[in-house]
Amino acid sequence: MRIAVIGAGHAGVAAAEAAAKQGAEVVLFSAESALPYFRPRIVGVAVGREAEEAILFHPREWFEARGIELRLGSPVESVERVDAGFVVRAGGKDERVDRLVLATGACPFTPPLYATKRERLSPLWTLADARALSAKLVPGTRLCVIGGGILGLELALGAAARPGVSVTVVEREDRLMRAQLSDLVSGALRDNLTRRGVEVVTNACVERFEEVPGALRLCFADGGVREFEQVVYALGARACLDLARVCGLEVGRGVRVDGSLATSVEGVWACGDVVEVDGVTRSVALEAVKQGRVAGENAAGGKAVYRSVGAALSYRHPDLEILAIGAAQPEGSRLREVPTEKGLCVLVIQDGLLVGVQALDAREAFRQHEKRLGQAVDGAGEGV
Ligand SMILES: Cc1cc2nc3c(=O)[nH]c(=O)nc-3n(C[C@H](O)[C@H](O)[C@H](O)COP(=O)(O)OP(=O)(O)OC[C@H]3O[C@@H](n4cnc5c(N)ncnc54)[C@H](O)[C@@H]3O)c2cc1C
Repeated sequence: MRIAVIGAGHAGVAAAEAAAKQGAEVVLFSAESALPYFRPRIVGVAVGREAEEAILFHPREWFEARGIELRLGSPVESVERVDAGFVVRAGGKDERVDRLVLATGACPFTPPLYATKRERLSPLWTLADARALSAKLVPGTRLCVIGGGILGLELALGAAARPGVSVTVVEREDRLMRAQLSDLVSGALRDNLTRRGVEVVTNACVERFEEVPGALRLCFADGGVREFEQVVYALGARACLDLARVCGLEVGRGVRVDGSLATSVEGVWACGDVVEVDGVTRSVALEAVKQGRVAGENAAGGKAVYRSVGAALSYRHPDLEILAIGAAQPEGSRLREVPTEKGLCVLVIQDGLLVGVQALDAREAFRQHEKRLGQAVDGAGEGV
C-alpha cells in the first residue's frame, strides 16, 4: 500500500512513521524546505537561544532508514480521486497513491490589515520566519509584538533577553492571555514581564500601519502613534483548509474526523492542527503527535482510536512557568489565592464548584488542585 502524507509537521511525521511501521510505502510532502522540526522551538531560534539544527526532529537518514520518501519544498497543489486511489500533484509532478493522510496544520491568523506584505511586519510561524527575525533583532531594534497570547509573550520574553533590543507587547483586550487567565494571574504575569524589561500596552487596537523611513508606524484607534523597527503579529491560528476543500472533505473550523481520525471521504485520514475534535481546533504539539500516530496507523490498515487529552495550558520558559486549566474568569465567578511556597496559584470558583486553576511558578500547588476541577469547593477554608 502506498500512502501520501501531506504536511511534515508534528502530526505528519508521526503519521508517516506509524504508517511505515505497518509496512506501508510512504511519501511525505512538505511545503517547507527545511527538514521537519519542532515548531514551538522556532521562538528559541528567532531570539538566538537555539541553533536551527538543534530543533530538527530527525536527520535525513532517519527518514531513509524507515523507507519514508521525504519531499521537501513540495507543496501539494491538488488531489484527484482515481479508481480506488488518488493522484497527488506537487511541483507539477503526479504521484499515484492508495490512501491519504492530511496533516497541513494551521496558519497564522492574518486579518486584512496585516495581509499587505511589508518588510517590517511578519508572523512567526515557520523556521524561515524565525531565521529572518533573528537577523533583525540587533542592538537598537525596537520590537513590537502584537497579541498578548502565549505565542506573543514567549517571543517577547525571549527577545527582551537579546542585548540592546527593546520589546513592547500590544494587546487589544484589557489584560494578557484573557482566554486563559483571570485578572489576578494576568496582572501578576504583566508585572513579571515588566520586571524583565518588556513594556505591556493593553486596550490598544492597531487601526493602521504607515511605512516611514527606517520603521513601521502603528496608528492606534485612540489616536496614539508608535514606531518600531520590527513588528511581529501573533493573533492566533486557523486550520489550513485549502487542500481539505480541494479533496471535498467535510470541514467546520477544521477537518471533521471520527474517533479513528477518518474524514468524510473514504481513504482519507486527517490529524494535527488541521482537524477539529468535538467542534474545536487545537494548537497543541503533543496532541498533533498522538493524532498523527493514530491516523498513520489506520491509513495503513490499523484499528487505533484517538482519545483527546485535556486542554490544559502548560508553558515553561527557562525562568517562568504558566499553568492553566479550565475557565479563565467567567461571569459571577470568584477567585481564591491558595498558599504556595513560591509563585502564585489561584482557584476560579463558580456556583461552589472549582472551574479553573491557574499558576505562575507554582507547579506543585497547580498539580494538587487541578485534579479537583469540577468538584465542590469548601467555602470557608483556604484550600479545596
Ligand atoms: C511559534 C509557535 C510556538 C508554539 N508553541 C507551542 C507550545 O509551546 N506548546 C504546544 O503544544 N504547541 C505550540 N505551538 C503549536 C504547535 O506547534 C502545533 O500544535 C503543531 O505544530 C501542530 O502540528 P501539525 O503537524 O498539525 O502542524 P504543523 O506543525 O503546522 O505542520 C504542518 C505542515 O504542513 C505543511 N503544509 C501545509 N499545506 C501543505 C501542502 N499543501 N503541501 C505540503 N505541505 C503543506 C506546512 O507548511 C507545515 O510545515 C506553537 C506554534 C507556534 C507557531
